[in-house]
Amino acid sequence: MGFSTILARHGRCGACNLCALACSFHHEGAFGRRNSSIEIIKDEREGEVEIVIFDGAQDDRKPCDGCANEERPLCVQWCPVGALSVKRS
Ligand code: SF4
Ligand code: SF4
Repeated sequence: MGFSTILARHGRCGACNLCALACSFHHEGAFGRRNSSIEIIKDEREGEVEIVIFDGAQDDRKPCDGCANEERPLCVQWCPVGALSVKRS
């Protein structure tokens, strides 16, 4: 299985944060959004959502490792609206 790059469809995202919680569970075995490689940023005024996936360039977040130990990345599995998908490389 190759490394998985996560593709985000921002327009589908409902900002439920399930992906971020699943990601923290992948990294730490516990739920907490600060330990996640994903951050969901919602502009409350405009209603727009941005999905940020940290790739290692940021000090304070664990980089996405593509959930290499999983059949499908946990963030993709848990997104209820199909806003995340996998690009294998
Ligand atoms: S693929 Fe895994 S490590 Fe990467 S953002 Fe998704 S849950 Fe987190
Ligand atoms: S699980 Fe899906 S809908 Fe929920 S915040 Fe993540 S990308 Fe958005």
